Amino acid sequence: LLLAPAALKWLEILERRASRFALRYGAALYVTIKGDMNFDVVVVGAGPAGSSAALVLAEAGFRVALLEKALLPRYKTCGGGLLGRALKLLPFEVGPVVERECFGAELHHHDPTLQFSTHRNRPVVTMVMRDQFDHLLTTSAQNAGVQLISGVALLDLKEDVDSIELRTTGGVFKARFVIGADGAQSVVARKCGLPDLRHVIPAIESEVTVDEAQFDRFRDEARFDFGLTPYGYGWVFSKREHLSVGVLTTRRGSCNLNDEYARYLAKIGLSPIKEERHGYMIPLSPREKLVGGRRVLLVGDAAGFADPVTAEGISNAISSGRLAAEAIVNEGMNETAVSRQYLDRLQTTLLPELRVARVLACVLYDFPRVRSSLFARHGQRLSDLLTRIVMGEVTYSEAVSRPKNYLELLFPGAFAKAVGA
Ligand SMILES: Cc1cc2nc3c(=O)[nH]c(=O)nc-3n(C[C@H](O)[C@H](O)[C@H](O)COP(=O)(O)OP(=O)(O)OC[C@H]3O[C@@H](n4cnc5c(N)ncnc54)[C@H](O)[C@@H]3O)c2cc1C
Repeated sequence: LLLAPAALKWLEILERRASRFALRYGAALYVTIKGDMNFDVVVVGAGPAGSSAALVLAEAGFRVALLEKALLPRYKTCGGGLLGRALKLLPFEVGPVVERECFGAELHHHDPTLQFSTHRNRPVVTMVMRDQFDHLLTTSAQNAGVQLISGVALLDLKEDVDSIELRTTGGVFKARFVIGADGAQSVVARKCGLPDLRHVIPAIESEVTVDEAQFDRFRDEARFDFGLTPYGYGWVFSKREHLSVGVLTTRRGSCNLNDEYARYLAKIGLSPIKEERHGYMIPLSPREKLVGGRRVLLVGDAAGFADPVTAEGISNAISSGRLAAEAIVNEGMNETAVSRQYLDRLQTTLLPELRVARVLACVLYDFPRVRSSLFARHGQRLSDLLTRIVMGEVTYSEAVSRPKNYLELLFPGAFAKAVGA
């Protein structure tokens, strides 16, 4: 009887290992036996970009494989904050995987007079854990007919006259097009010989368990702190039973991020009972080339599409994944037309947004005094405007090009009165 709990624990570990082994080699064996290695499109990477692209293609009747090196569901280093604009892009509800909905956000500037909060009757940030959220997206793609091949990693690519060959840990696949959705360290981009991402920043994310009193302080609102971490910010996102706490800096090498994380916890008065810390990178500028050869389209973090102001990447991952897939759906198998349409649509939608966001990010992070003085004068209105942007009510380009927005900043309410709204 004394040995029973230990034996059960060992059995549990053995069972977990056996099922991981079966999944990993099962996937490879399945594709080898079935010999089903030819597809219209192979999407590499089952994050939000890849699953979104695969879903659009399968719904249009294409034969699609979604290749993922990890076994799903897998942990992903991420705050798991879905902004309103990301939710708008999803063709289904995310209810089953929502950990918490925050209808408000707090912006702290580490000056007692510079603290702002915004509230909405729709969630400003919807909190998820990425393993569950990504699994939901992948399952929707599978339900639409996508063949998910998980536990299989891409190793190399070779372009032929009318197809592209993918060498993987599960054998060799062939496709007419490849969508590279394999994240910031994209193997697809590297194997296509595309130049490196220019601005990749480090970030730390920690899953933190705290006592009830501390949890309650952060439970209802998403919190962002500027002016503490050099050239960056810290955040606290509340999940069902724990907090996701993180810091990032937009200048690599400017600080020791682990020390900054410890300083942030102390500053906001958090003392974890338990924590699990992870570090990863976020690409804040697009690659110079977004198409490799004639048949490879890059999307999401692989393309460098995270927002330079918020460092949030899920919205642009979903939208770029959809754009790439729609270009293939619209242009059929004509590779020149497909890449032209993808690049043209990026040029009229996402890329101008990222350009404006980069300028704003420069003011926000590189000139802390200018930032403080702007927030001292217009803090609440700037926070409201930022909230409208992340909710998808207005774009960065619209925010800087519409005189109405400057008028609202300078004379709050005056414009609405003038037009009788
Ligand atoms: C600390 C931190 C906090 C963040 N917080 C937020 C947040 O709160 N909200 C937000 O919107 N964004 C956040 N981001 C950014 C967000 O995580 C990314 O922008 C987003 O995940 C990009 O999605 P993606 O589909 O392009 O790539 P990923 O989500 O990175 O997915 C890429 C997939 O490709 C797979 N893959 C990689 N190589 C291979 C290979 N060779 N073969 C097969 N598969 C492969 C990976 O396993 C992975 O599943 C955060 C990032 C970090 C680092």
